[in-house]
Amino acid sequence: MAEKEAAPKKEKKVREKKMAYQTVKGMHDILPEEQPLWDKVRLATKHVGEFYNFQRIDTPVLEGADIFERGLGTKTDIVEKEMFVIKTRGGDKLVMRPEFTSAVMRAYYQHGLSQFGQPMKLYYEGPVFRYEQPQAGRYRQFNQVGFEILGAESDPVYDAQAIMSAFRIIEELKIKNVTVHINSIGCHKCRATYIKKLEAHYKKNALKICKDCKNRISTNPLRVLDCKEEKCQLVKAEAPIILDYLDSECKAHFTKVLEYLDEVKIPYYIDSYLVRGLDYYNRTVFEFFGEGFSVALGGGGRYDYLSETLKLGKLSAVGSALGTERIIEVMKASGKIIVPRGAARVFLVHIGDEAKKRGLALIEEFRKSGVRINESFGKDSLKSQMRVADKEQAQLSLILGQREVFEGSIIVRDMETGAQESVPLERIVEEVKKRLK
Ligand code: AMP
Repeated sequence: MAEKEAAPKKEKKVREKKMAYQTVKGMHDILPEEQPLWDKVRLATKHVGEFYNFQRIDTPVLEGADIFERGLGTKTDIVEKEMFVIKTRGGDKLVMRPEFTSAVMRAYYQHGLSQFGQPMKLYYEGPVFRYEQPQAGRYRQFNQVGFEILGAESDPVYDAQAIMSAFRIIEELKIKNVTVHINSIGCHKCRATYIKKLEAHYKKNALKICKDCKNRISTNPLRVLDCKEEKCQLVKAEAPIILDYLDSECKAHFTKVLEYLDEVKIPYYIDSYLVRGLDYYNRTVFEFFGEGFSVALGGGGRYDYLSETLKLGKLSAVGSALGTERIIEVMKASGKIIVPRGAARVFLVHIGDEAKKRGLALIEEFRKSGVRINESFGKDSLKSQMRVADKEQAQLSLILGQREVFEGSIIVRDMETGAQESVPLERIVEEVKKRLK
């Protein structure tokens, strides 16, 4: 029965069958074969994060809805259309986090993280949920890794550090030709002047813009600059740009950020129409774009207003996040990734009950020595176990029969040459270590 299941043809048939149960729309499994890539991204995040003195934080997937409604702004796409909202039995309105920043800000205040050395630098990784229309590179459950720097003055050096940290992950993953698109959206004061000009421009061109832009110009005017509709592109191309309306402080801040990026050799492109849709951003906003990919690999910005909007106090902060699925897509597309096989290179074959029992304890000896070993205890015949060892591409098989258990020995078989040798059981771990390539 078990052997039949392992036969390759049958396995394929089961995979191809359209199952009654599928992942829900916009959500995806991460199968074992992809896990090494995911590990790489997580490891790069940890390396980079720890190097730049970020500490890891994990927040729950569920948060109170008000954090995001207030923090991101009620007129943003995320809050208006994209949140997975849950009503609890007790009547609370919870949300599956659509982003990390507001949750991290909540945690910062809840746990009094301001008592420690500032700025508090935190990094995170985990799933995020947005009820979007799924398409290539756009999911309803996706993952982000990211950095937040909270509690320093609005110092441009931290904007550069937030950008640099995410960029270093990209570099560590050997992703080439990524550029930072960057802009400054100023402070409330300069933005108010700019928005008036933008509104006037779009109102003057009301007949030439799409329905959504007509709405946006009165609800969340900066968002017209995100519009991808063809008919709006001409109007956008002639729209005023915010950089022309920055006050001297915001202008100096932006210049410094660019100088710092030059200093650490981060390639950037000033994208005057980049605004990012959330209410909490001020001054620097940025996104990472890979060559040949139209969707952003990541983004972020300064959010000095978030804590006040949440009525938590005054706190300067800046952060960046990368979309893990998109990063992995680029890694796959580059074709240069060598995915290490997850399987162990040593395989234990048992013949008979006594050998199975002894084999179970033997595996523990391997575990203590840090050598991975695989088995197929569910199968009894030598042939079927050897077949699994073959499939798993084991370098060595260790064959343990009744006689070997009795004699205190074990047979080591080189799977490539077929050469076999009997070795004392008490020395087997050592012998395997010597032979592993
Ligand atoms: P955002 O908070 O929207 O700037 O998202 C930061 C990054 O997360 C983006 O640049 C993407 O790489 C990724 N991302 C955002 N939305 C999605 C999505 N629906 N599916 C996959 N990745 C996403």
